[in-house]
Amino acid sequence: MDEREGVSPGFKFNDWEMRGVPLRLEIGPKDVAKGSVVLARRDRPGKEGKSFVSQQDLPASVAQLLEEIQKSLYDRALAFRIANTAEPASYEEFKKAVEKGFALSWWCGNSECEANIKEETRATMRCIPLEQPGGTGKCIHCGELAKEKAIFARAY
Ligand SMILES: [Zn+2]
Repeated sequence: MDEREGVSPGFKFNDWEMRGVPLRLEIGPKDVAKGSVVLARRDRPGKEGKSFVSQQDLPASVAQLLEEIQKSLYDRALAFRIANTAEPASYEEFKKAVEKGFALSWWCGNSECEANIKEETRATMRCIPLEQPGGTGKCIHCGELAKEKAIFARAY
């Protein structure tokens, strides 16, 4: 509860938003009189993210809303990752892909090869996804046998 005196509600709202608090509960004098609470979602600014619930339903409403927010943030992040991940077919395509996002490519596992990729493209390996397509391929850089695909990207 923010009990600070001498600061406006707007300042408090912004202050907590900056800290990443996902859900704000507003209870003003009118809300107390009506037995209601205003819930404001951080991930949906403005009127769209506001809802009104009764004080009685508050615990269930907050629990449900936090789950919705979690799912919404996860879905948004996943969609962003998918939209920004390319699967280049050649090293030329790989170089273009890492200029604007992630590249998912066969990689031989050789650290020298990885160092060369970094030297030439400024991209480094971000991770080797647990979900692999299976089988083998040719390393995107050196063409040697590769048993797994890795995600490459430039640090920003
Ligand atoms: Zn290689």
